[in-house]
Amino acid sequence: MTQLLIKNGFVIDPLNNIHGEVVDIGVKDGKIVPPDDVDLRYAKVIDASGKLVVPGGVDVHTHVAGPKVSVGRLLMPNDHYKKGGRVVAIPGIKRSGTGIAVPSVTTIGYKYARMGWTMVMEAASPPLYTRHTHHELDDTPIVDKGVNLLLDSNWFILEYIEQKAQERVNAFIAWILEATKSYAVKLVDPGSAEAWSLGVATKPLDVDEVIPGTSVTPKDILVALANAVRDLKIPHPIHVHANMLGIPGNYVSTINTIKAVADIVNQRGLSIHLAHIQFNAYKGDSYATMTSGAEELAKLINTLTGVTFDMGQVVFMPTVTMTADAPWEYVLYHITKWKWAAGDVENETASGVVPYTFRRHIYTNVIQWGIGLELALLVKDASKVVISTDHPNAGPFTRYPQIIAWLMSKKARENEMKKLNKRALKRLALPAIDREYTFEEFVLTTRVAPAKIIGVEKFKGHLGVGADADIAIYDIDPRTYDPSRDYKKLVKAIKYAAYTIKGGEIVVKDGKIVKTIYGRTFYTKTRTDPKIMHEVLEDIKSKFNEWYTITFNNYTILEQELHKPYAITPV
Ligand SMILES: [Zn+2]
Repeated sequence: MTQLLIKNGFVIDPLNNIHGEVVDIGVKDGKIVPPDDVDLRYAKVIDASGKLVVPGGVDVHTHVAGPKVSVGRLLMPNDHYKKGGRVVAIPGIKRSGTGIAVPSVTTIGYKYARMGWTMVMEAASPPLYTRHTHHELDDTPIVDKGVNLLLDSNWFILEYIEQKAQERVNAFIAWILEATKSYAVKLVDPGSAEAWSLGVATKPLDVDEVIPGTSVTPKDILVALANAVRDLKIPHPIHVHANMLGIPGNYVSTINTIKAVADIVNQRGLSIHLAHIQFNAYKGDSYATMTSGAEELAKLINTLTGVTFDMGQVVFMPTVTMTADAPWEYVLYHITKWKWAAGDVENETASGVVPYTFRRHIYTNVIQWGIGLELALLVKDASKVVISTDHPNAGPFTRYPQIIAWLMSKKARENEMKKLNKRALKRLALPAIDREYTFEEFVLTTRVAPAKIIGVEKFKGHLGVGADADIAIYDIDPRTYDPSRDYKKLVKAIKYAAYTIKGGEIVVKDGKIVKTIYGRTFYTKTRTDPKIMHEVLEDIKSKFNEWYTITFNNYTILEQELHKPYAITPV
């Protein structure tokens, strides 16, 4: 396989205590090796003088594959005619694609790679339709991937929680992650989809409300699933879209969500990852009076070591919202009064898809824009923060370079604020915040933190010997360049990496795709008590006949159905 020697680059690799120094990096057989191990007779030498060398980016929360993403594409045909989303095929090098807000699978892989990102986690897949999710992920070029599995409204889990049978919850989760080749446990507005599907609730539920038709609360689900993740040693903590998303006043629900599970810590010291926290950080009792709850949430998160979040940062452009939080999409449809698609997944979950445009003159949208940045800047430890737009909910992932510029340059924020609703800006703390992220914090929030949260930091998120050779090289030199002043250069450099190397192969050069390869799909294979697993399997098999339109045998996704499956077995 290809051997590479990356010479004279300015390396930031916090996990290996390299905080900005010139280090040569060797690559052989897809892994990072000591530079001396590279055989220069066969190696390609990359001169990275004056360039920044960092690990490949990792996205912990992005909606890139599965049924609701396809529905989003169908709802927005106009998104696929725009020139900016067009990827023109070059035979033997790259395939074609389209789309800006909800791009096609090929476009997604290529655009992530062009920015220097090399791993993405599909944020929410319904178990029954995860075969579809895998088909799209298999077709997504370059990046490694994994699936967050929607489990909070699953009938089996709700029944076992009602029976207070934690061991059965654990066994069921062990089974379903392996059966669907999924990676992590995802909760969306815990329990609400169940009540929505049964037609017994038409609004989002709060953490302590009993879910109609059951005897459990969202809090019970949070606790049971956090316990299961800890007991099964699943690498990624529970990944939670908290209750009351999008509703003014919801920052209190988010605090209660965090407190419900803060003491349930996995073997890696983490208790909860809050997805797109911006949407769950609102103060006030109406959209007209909504303000930021970022200070309160940041204060709490600063005191807890096991709580992490991704931003869900708003960018101003037309996009499509999509979530398993079906009741919220129903609310949003009544706000937008345009298009809405709803989905129900038998026995498991529900969903909604609504196109939406965030606008600079709208008070609420500007408050939302400010909240994401406030949270990232008020939480002191950047290794708790991950950059995200909850793609495509608050905007497409292709805007990450702009978000990084807002975090690294107060001037970039001020220039944006000149165009925004003045009344909203007066109610935000953001204009008074001076903090600017350093280059190291850029690496923490886009590489190190996401790799650690997912639990792949042994081979992702760093450039030490033995790590996967996933590397981004950007045409900027932190020794001579100050992003706080000339932030536009930063946006350009990150949008179009000088090089992206994936698994030891050069896939991007000078911002252009030069090779199409396919990454692995990570999934979790855990072990649990064989006796309880046997009992639970018997229960699953008998109820499949009663509950499902699909048979038990057809439900299970085999390893050979995936292009490149890669099982993580917790020890
Ligand atoms: Zn999401």
